[in-house]
Amino acid sequence: MTQDPVTTSHSETFRPNAPFWHPGLIRTIHEQGVDGHFGDFGGAFIPEVIVPAVDDLRRAYLEAREDLAFWRELDGVGRSFAGRPTPVYLAERFSQGLGDIQVVLKREDLAHTGAHKINNALGQGLLARRMGRQRIIAETGAGQHGVAAATVCAKLGLECVVYMGTEDIERQALNVYRMQLLGAEVRPVDSGTRTLKDAINEAFRDWCTNVESTYYMLGSATGPHPYPLMVRDFQSVIGWEARRQCLEQFSHLPDAVVACVGGGSNAIGGFMPFVEDAGVALIGVEAGGSGIASGAHAATLSAGSIGILHGTRSLVLQNADGQILGTHSISAGLDYPGVGPEHAFLKTSGRAQYVSIEDEAAIRGFRLLSSTEGIMPALESAHAVAYVADNPQRFAPGSLVLIILSGRGDKDVNRSLPFAETL
Ligand SMILES: *Cc1c(COP(=O)(O)O)cnc(C)c1O
Repeated sequence: MTQDPVTTSHSETFRPNAPFWHPGLIRTIHEQGVDGHFGDFGGAFIPEVIVPAVDDLRRAYLEAREDLAFWRELDGVGRSFAGRPTPVYLAERFSQGLGDIQVVLKREDLAHTGAHKINNALGQGLLARRMGRQRIIAETGAGQHGVAAATVCAKLGLECVVYMGTEDIERQALNVYRMQLLGAEVRPVDSGTRTLKDAINEAFRDWCTNVESTYYMLGSATGPHPYPLMVRDFQSVIGWEARRQCLEQFSHLPDAVVACVGGGSNAIGGFMPFVEDAGVALIGVEAGGSGIASGAHAATLSAGSIGILHGTRSLVLQNADGQILGTHSISAGLDYPGVGPEHAFLKTSGRAQYVSIEDEAAIRGFRLLSSTEGIMPALESAHAVAYVADNPQRFAPGSLVLIILSGRGDKDVNRSLPFAETL
């Protein structure tokens, strides 16, 4: 039997947030995607003007990736600033109604700024500083990545511009104010559907004209290489910590890891450390909106087809002419017509399965976890919660089911109130 490096007691190999510099098992898992390809997916489909910027970024990241000092620094700020490691929590009362399964929550809701997004923003912030960039641009939908980016820029003393669709600015006014308080400039985007995908387009446009001075801090595990690799690496702290915590607290690995999928960053970060553990089922939960048949959803892996969006080849919600379709979800963070290429690969290779949960079920999941555990999940995370609550029979009796609770739900309380009466 090979010794699991995350369970050894040597000081350096034990550190859960520093998987890259372990020469054994951990390292081989991480090599997937280093060349920018996840099977047939990934790559860098970008306009010529940003080729030099993306080349630069790729070189800088691949170099930082080999540098122990970089991971040590990230590990340090993760602990002192972002509250890592976040706990794994046995949801006993929630589990009681679900027959013979035990549900544990990985508490990313307890990370600084209230979601997993800070893991990625810190990693990229340190990389930007290492590259000597003073100006950060970012895009945001729900505002969560914008807040994380603005937070990290405030901490590191970097200038921050956040692109956001005007539709989202209206829906997420509190997060706009937060970003401004943190010193960021929020630039409204009034084109297209005036949501996340248009904000990403605008951020790429900015990058094209300010290639020398600017670092583009992308918010999910999508975009051209090296973003899907880099964001996964930064978010995999979720899975590495959870893996060790499950071994410590329950003496075995979880039987399933369940996570919501928007662009796919919290899910890939939760899945990746378990990819080589054949006994661990990996289940991604997408936004079923008003139902897949209605067309008003954001279930890209369930209903999409192969295409290119925002620089990467993956599954995309598009019509027969390749036009990107409008999406709908109760949760702004899942409301995106693309998905990270590694998920497309995990789906087609059969290693992970993807399901969808509709708006109303997600609200029920939100209320169930709130009332049984005193934990309000983000509406995004509530999709993963609802899948487990609604389908306990899909897990073998005695299963330990790990849900990645990607964020806290305070931000959603207003939006979910209209549903309270109907439940
Ligand atoms: C942004 C966000 C998501 C969706 O993004 P992924 O990249 O798929 O993780 C999910 N949960 C929360 C709380 C978010 O803020």
